[in-house]
Amino acid sequence: MHETSLVSALMQQVEAAAMELRASAVHRIRVRIGELAGVEPQLFASAFELFRERTICAAARLEIVTAAAAWTCPGCGAAIAPGQVLRCPDCALPARLASGDEIILERIEMEVPAARDRGRNVPPRRERTMEATDV
Ligand SMILES: [Zn+2]
Repeated sequence: MHETSLVSALMQQVEAAAMELRASAVHRIRVRIGELAGVEPQLFASAFELFRERTICAAARLEIVTAAAAWTCPGCGAAIAPGQVLRCPDCALPARLASGDEIILERIEMEVPAARDRGRNVPPRRERTMEATDV
């Protein structure tokens, strides 16, 4: 199943981020899945359920945000609404997919050690926001 390997890749990213920050637990993960990514959010969620056992994500909540496809003209940059002919009315250029085929790890919230333990001025529990990364 396609979703299984994606979740496996996702878990590796989350675990690497958690290790980097010496996090003790992951509370929440947010993933954006484009409607044209070829991923079934339901299957993705059930694959996550299988994978997270005995990992740092054991108690993590998975939030899946689905993103609609967006098309633009490669010439003038105009947005072209889905459902229309996928061609720019001004330039006659075929529309380019701007978003909607992505699978992005948007955010990880995790438990990290208290500031005094790390010698850094950060609150004991903080939200770690990842740069958007492709899974
Ligand atoms: Zn155009």
